[in-house]
Amino acid sequence: MAPERFDAIVVGAGPSGNAAAYTMAKGGLKVLQIERGEYPGAKNVQGAILYAEALEHLIPDFREDAPLERHVIEQRVWMMDDTSHTGFSYRSDDFNEEKPNRYTIIRAQFDRWLSSRVRDAGATLITETTVTELLRDLQGRVIGVLTDRHGGPILADVVVMAEGVNGLVGQRSGLREELKPKTVALAVKEMLFLPQETVESRFNLTGDAGVVIEAMGTITQGMTGTGFLYTNRESLAIGVGAIVSDLAATGIKPYALLDAFKRHPSIAPLIAGAEVKEYAAHLIPEGGFNAMPDLHGEGWLIAGDAAHLVNAVHREGSNLAMTSGRIAGETIVWLKRRREPCDKEHLAEYRKRLEDSFVLKDMRKYRKVPDLLHGNRQLMDLYPRLLSGAAQTWLRVDGVDKRAKESAILRDLRRKRGFGGLIGDAVKLARAWR
Ligand SMILES: Cc1cc2nc3c(=O)[nH]c(=O)nc-3n(C[C@H](O)[C@H](O)[C@H](O)COP(=O)(O)OP(=O)(O)OC[C@H]3O[C@@H](n4cnc5c(N)ncnc54)[C@H](O)[C@@H]3O)c2cc1C
Repeated sequence: MAPERFDAIVVGAGPSGNAAAYTMAKGGLKVLQIERGEYPGAKNVQGAILYAEALEHLIPDFREDAPLERHVIEQRVWMMDDTSHTGFSYRSDDFNEEKPNRYTIIRAQFDRWLSSRVRDAGATLITETTVTELLRDLQGRVIGVLTDRHGGPILADVVVMAEGVNGLVGQRSGLREELKPKTVALAVKEMLFLPQETVESRFNLTGDAGVVIEAMGTITQGMTGTGFLYTNRESLAIGVGAIVSDLAATGIKPYALLDAFKRHPSIAPLIAGAEVKEYAAHLIPEGGFNAMPDLHGEGWLIAGDAAHLVNAVHREGSNLAMTSGRIAGETIVWLKRRREPCDKEHLAEYRKRLEDSFVLKDMRKYRKVPDLLHGNRQLMDLYPRLLSGAAQTWLRVDGVDKRAKESAILRDLRRKRGFGGLIGDAVKLARAWR
């Protein structure tokens, strides 16, 4: 019997794979989606902030039944040293809008819901099945996949690789390089249960409103990395991560970082009495624009984390995943309607559309940031300490006059970094940000 043939196969049922499969199924294509987990979301890890805009493009009415936790009305950004944090905070009642812009979610529930919408749109999903290899014709064109299930090859005109950061199929097939320890972070995360009233009183919240905290500084012990604490309805998500090459060089265990983060005097009172519900570890692609693989080829496209599409500066990933998956799907539907082949030349349209979107504009904008962070450890360690020292000197009322305090702050800066170092760092930061 001839193997079954599809218009498209999607590898993975995370945000990028679901967006691609949904778009193509809605566009009338015969789509097969293959997910190795027991169900979509079973193995997926995220903080997790959902950015509504990316999902609205796919499912405008998602707020009616998507499993959302809290809409975010307050963002805190904390620069931490060992005993203090210096913070920026923005809270606005404007975020209590009819269609809020950001939500916290729990990925296992969210991915399952999104996947049900994908199947309603007409895509076929098979779970507990791992794609092991891409199938190629004699010219090297991708024409389908092999899986770990019994049965022969599955054929399709195009394969969308949405297998996440550690996508072994893409690596084995030579579509993307092996992950480099310098371009990927390892993050650990815990879900901490707290009664709803406790979450609301500790974070000054009412109704479904939520707070998110992004943290950096000495919490990563000089390594490049960040931490976070997000409010769900009746739990908190807390996590910390650092670049893998830094973890390897220092020998510091990610869970030791998380334990220390939880004990920090700024964090401990917020999570006091909470019960650990679950914990997880996951990689995050943080190499930025320069670490991206080719995005398309003969019969294939790559989307989401598999394509290294994460904006580490703004802590955005799922929206780049959903948007790239949607654009991959739209490109394929467009080619099919024009009866064009899904070869490398025609699939170049995917890259072009991504270039026109915020996805590659943002990736390109921050392309110098990964190298800046690697080569300048003082940003994670010395500056948070200097900032904290300056704040203490400035805020303590101790009989020292204010001019003397200013001089003491400047003296401390000069002694620990030197004016040349300070100016050099400011120039490097400005250049990386342009
Ligand atoms: C700790 C942490 C916190 C984060 N916080 C945020 C946040 O708050 N906001 C945000 O926007 N982003 C966040 N991110 C990033 C975000 O999670 C990712 O960018 C997003 O999940 C990428 O989606 P994806 O579909 O490309 O990949 P994934 O979500 O990884 O999905 C890939 C899917 O492919 C499946 N798969 C893999 N290989 C195969 C195979 N061979 N065969 C079949 N199936 C396969 C996997 O099981 C998985 O379901 C965070 C990431 C981490 C680790």
